[in-house]
Amino acid sequence: MKLYESLALQTEELKSLGNLRCFPATSSTSLQLSSNDYMGISKEKSLMTEFQEACLKNKWEMGACSSRLLTGNHEAYNELEALLADLYAKGASLVFNSGYHANMGILPALTTSKDLIVADQFVHASMIDGIRLSNASFWRFRHQNYKQLETYLEKHRDDYENVFIVVESLYSMDGDFADLSRLVDIKKRFDCCLYVDEAHAFGVVGHKGLGLCEKENVISDIDFIVGTFGKAIASQGAFVACDPIIKSWLIQKSRTLIYTTALPEASVRWSCFVIQFLVDSHKRREELEEVSRWFSHQLGGTGSSPIVPYIVGSNHQALALSKFLEERNISVLPIRYPTVPKGTARLRFSLTAGVTKDQLQEVIDGIECFQKNQGV
Ligand code: PMP
Repeated sequence: MKLYESLALQTEELKSLGNLRCFPATSSTSLQLSSNDYMGISKEKSLMTEFQEACLKNKWEMGACSSRLLTGNHEAYNELEALLADLYAKGASLVFNSGYHANMGILPALTTSKDLIVADQFVHASMIDGIRLSNASFWRFRHQNYKQLETYLEKHRDDYENVFIVVESLYSMDGDFADLSRLVDIKKRFDCCLYVDEAHAFGVVGHKGLGLCEKENVISDIDFIVGTFGKAIASQGAFVACDPIIKSWLIQKSRTLIYTTALPEASVRWSCFVIQFLVDSHKRREELEEVSRWFSHQLGGTGSSPIVPYIVGSNHQALALSKFLEERNISVLPIRYPTVPKGTARLRFSLTAGVTKDQLQEVIDGIECFQKNQGV
């Protein structure tokens, strides 16, 4: 069959471009700088023991065995959704199985061919897939280029019924923050809905860890706030905080919510437990911000988020630097095209609360040593 030959050829080509994806070996001895465990929850042994004991005592189930609209909608869902609706004071929240499910299922359920979706060029693949599944028209603006967005809306807003502006609050590969106040202003002036994915900011940013929307005091102005549990919460699943009418409509129409088995009770309760713990973890957030700012500055940046990119350009250089650091027991994986634009391959450092400046100094020394060896 042609398929096998063609795949083998294409795989060889990816390899020669330094672009072949492989599952990395996990090393427990290395300093881990690629995990999204921003708040260090996966290392909180006492928190886990406390939860596991409660889990055993209450016999929380490990599988839901059905979708939420059949028998899978256990009480834990109601508790988690009530907690999130209360924290965001938005009237409702709806839990999905993952951020990918949420982003793929919300926009297609809400839009028609009379609508337009405008998205930042760098939004995550899950939003792009949601947009592709929708019947709406689609246009992308250059990363964080709000002037370009305004110019486009001035020209085209009136051609559509509803317009959705889709952004991330903290960009996953660049570590930069969106200007939410500016986006709220644009949304109001052009009568649009604003959709903000807080996947990397939920648990990490804002006094209670609700995200950039909390820090910028714009929660009530954002129509859809998406947060995920797989990163700072060290769990699985995701939510959208929204108006009750939106929640009710998504339950009718969102295929990634309707046609999938619900999350296990134990998992939903763990998310709830960690969120409650993180609401009070201000000090941990402040310390993480301080060390992130310092590290970014040392690498020539000006960021304050725990995502610190170090752009090297070529795939081969990114692979070589990652390998060099791994030999020094520092684990940071290379990020290449198509996850980031061609020619901007990078190491994406994601810092975890508790990492010390001494540990990060070893990273900086490692990079300098690599550059010296390369004659840079
Ligand atoms: N949104 C963003 C911005 C992400 O970075 C990711 C995961 N990398 C997702 C959504 C998907 O979330 P999940 O891992 O829960 O599917």
